[in-house]
Amino acid sequence: MQTFNLDNARKQSPNVQNAHFLKDTLMNQLLQSAKDISRILNDAGHTCYFAGGCVRDQLLKIEPKDYDLATSATPQQVLKLFPKADSIGAHFGVILVKYAGAAFEIATFRTDGSYTDSRRPESVTFATAEEDASRRDFTVNGLFQKSDTGEIIDFVNGKIDIEKKLIRAIGNPNERFTEDALRLMRAIRFATKLNFDIEEKTWEAIKTNAPLIKNIATERIQAEFSLILLSPRRARGLDLLVKSGLIQHFLPEILDLIGCEQPPQFHPEGDVYIHTSMMLDMLEGEVTLELVLAVLLHDIGKPATYSYDPDEDRIRFSGHDSLGAEMAETILKRLKYSNKTIDEVCAMVANHMNFMNVRFMKKSKVKRFMSRPTYELEMELHRVDCGSSNGITENYDFLRAKEEEFASEPLIPAPLISGKDLIGLGYRPGPQFKEILQAIQTEQLEGKLTESSQAIAWIKENY
Ligand code: ATP
Ligand code: MG
Repeated sequence: MQTFNLDNARKQSPNVQNAHFLKDTLMNQLLQSAKDISRILNDAGHTCYFAGGCVRDQLLKIEPKDYDLATSATPQQVLKLFPKADSIGAHFGVILVKYAGAAFEIATFRTDGSYTDSRRPESVTFATAEEDASRRDFTVNGLFQKSDTGEIIDFVNGKIDIEKKLIRAIGNPNERFTEDALRLMRAIRFATKLNFDIEEKTWEAIKTNAPLIKNIATERIQAEFSLILLSPRRARGLDLLVKSGLIQHFLPEILDLIGCEQPPQFHPEGDVYIHTSMMLDMLEGEVTLELVLAVLLHDIGKPATYSYDPDEDRIRFSGHDSLGAEMAETILKRLKYSNKTIDEVCAMVANHMNFMNVRFMKKSKVKRFMSRPTYELEMELHRVDCGSSNGITENYDFLRAKEEEFASEPLIPAPLISGKDLIGLGYRPGPQFKEILQAIQTEQLEGKLTESSQAIAWIKENY
């Protein structure tokens, strides 16, 4: 019989095995710490449960990313047991305890006071565990668990909904969404992330209350939207945002992609929305936010540049890449994404049509194309762009072959000469400097100049 041997497993694939091993160890540590904290509270006579996401994830056999605790102890009582804890959230009943290198939120059972602005409760009142469960958003998020026995405490029928794979608002869905409109986005985030359906009455209430999302701070909408896009089921998430009417209030430009016809000879899959949605689905593995946003927005300029060319009997979208980059900038600024994200996404949107030309570029141009910081992300965008439409892979394959061909040296090697050298040669600093240095680099990338002395001779000949 073969028994599991950690050392052998590590030898087979040391990096992967170590990563898994470390992650498991950390997760066990996290769980152990959460249990320790719970026991400290229990020993002092307080009730303390694991609450919310971590209970849900455990039942779904997903590794919880953190453990939140809910307790009958008041913030003052928690602070007595954990004097070094951070009491910044005590006003809302939340104490942050650092334990064995990790942070845990310990929240006193509470009900939320009245909401007057669909954003935040006016006040909180400490309450029973059952009341605390009912103030939570969805039944799947309303479960508690005893840390020592693992027993599930379910006041909201959350367990059944987890089995049925349903996102259902706790209590009256209309009231819950009018209380806090961020829950509209959260419902779609959980449906997307967990691949759950949204229960009918909850779904109807989302559609009815979608306009309330305007009361929510852009940063919070953006955070939920990004989580939806980072989920592997992002295309379904986008569809839910469209069908619920939510996207209309923060990214209405997407709606213009629906019904925007494309030339069938290049796009047998259908309109721009279908094309975009298929691309979102085709992205593989871990993706960056910038890549997903670039895929989402790469053809955002198409509706406005749509034209029909009767001579060739075909639809065209001339300039949709540059207009798309401008639109992407406007949209992402409006959604308050970081400058880094905006710059990367806009660069990718602006460049996405240039892939068609790579096979006809000079070597120097190909090298510059490949050395752009977003190149690797753009390759993935290009792969799914073609994969979801014409199926052409020749540009992708060409670039991958070039990567191998150029692998032995840096794509952009150290310059052969500098501005100082030009001054030494008697040239006066000015706009021509850049032109000369660029020209020298081009010759170098083409493999025609390899030494500084050759570069100097070349300059004397040409300038
Ligand atoms: P994740 O694993 O994505 O963090 P989570 O369920 O832990 O999911 P959080 O946003 O961390 O979600 O919130 C923790 C818990 O707090 C939720 O499970 C839910 O019970 C409750 N909660 C969070 N936000 C709200 C809200 N806006 N309205 C009601 N309850 C909420
Ligand atoms: Mg959480």
